[in-house]
Amino acid sequence: QLYNEVIELKGNIRVFCRCRPLNKAENANGSTSVVEFDSSQENELQIVSSDSSKKQFKFDYVFKPEDNQEAVFAQTKPVVTSVLDGYNVCIFAYGQTGTGKTFTMEGTPENRGVNYRTLEELFRVSKDRNGIMRYELFVSMLEVYNEKIRDLLVENSNQPPKKLEIKQAAEGGTQEVPGLTEAQVYGTEEVWELLKSGARVRSVGSTNANELSSRSHCLLRVTVKGENLINGQKTKSHLWLVDLAGSERVGKIEVDGERLKESQFINKSLSALGDVISALASKSGHIPYRNSKLTHILQSSLGGDCKTLMFVQISPSSSDLGETLCSLNFASRVR
Ligand code: ADP
Ligand code: MG
Repeated sequence: QLYNEVIELKGNIRVFCRCRPLNKAENANGSTSVVEFDSSQENELQIVSSDSSKKQFKFDYVFKPEDNQEAVFAQTKPVVTSVLDGYNVCIFAYGQTGTGKTFTMEGTPENRGVNYRTLEELFRVSKDRNGIMRYELFVSMLEVYNEKIRDLLVENSNQPPKKLEIKQAAEGGTQEVPGLTEAQVYGTEEVWELLKSGARVRSVGSTNANELSSRSHCLLRVTVKGENLINGQKTKSHLWLVDLAGSERVGKIEVDGERLKESQFINKSLSALGDVISALASKSGHIPYRNSKLTHILQSSLGGDCKTLMFVQISPSSSDLGETLCSLNFASRVR
């Protein structure tokens, strides 16, 4: 039995799937991989269910467990660098907790992810265009947790984080977040330090940083101001790099008051994001940006000429089969 689920490149919206390797614990407890790849196809995978039925999914690109950070960035690079040509860009990592969202976006010091590589590439290209274009780069970092926005680039991380609100943009204008810190950056080491300090602020007050990060969205915004030195034309554009909250459904047992509220906020914002992207892909007239803080804040960078890339992160493990199918089905809705 073979089902076909085709998720293809539609205009400015791209979906990549990335499957992490089986981890030590999974190998030790005998979990097997339910994901099959076709060696001749770079954009297909199949999920084998316990009754051995197979379901096929197609994406713009599929990264196998052995594909490294360089391979991922090679496919991502054309999308992110378009911010230097004046396009607004949004990149999302979506998936169950533990599937590699943070690994893809942030990475580790040894295996740096999309965020760092992007800034490195933006600095490289802007140097390359020296004499033709002049660029200024600014970085902001914020978190959306329970529909509240927090600035993560505060100067004094001992202070309680600033709460921010979204200012409705004028027709065709850019969404503003008054008071959000914007740090001008000149080099990659500086960016790395900023990202680390943002991560520290993020974890203040939480007993378990990993747990908290799985229940909030972390947004890195790169603002590019460009000036064409030949014709004097000026542009300002945003690139958003978003590590989304975990998409897993919370088990009934765990759900007490606080967790229930959190998971409702997460469900609401992730489904609002799915609604917005699928409305954009189907060119529907009304785009429901205002249904969540996440989509509202990204409004002027989603749709129109903007470029969108979603990484659907999955686990290969048989024990995650249900969540994996949910994530892949979410991605099909977004096509
Ligand atoms: P998430 O942010 O989705 O909760 P993480 O990025 O924290 O997941 O990944 C969970 C663990 O799996 C981390 O230890 C991470 O380093 C590892 N990991 C994730 N993806 C990969 C990959 N493609 N290759 C190697 N290790 C990975
Ligand atoms: Mg994470």
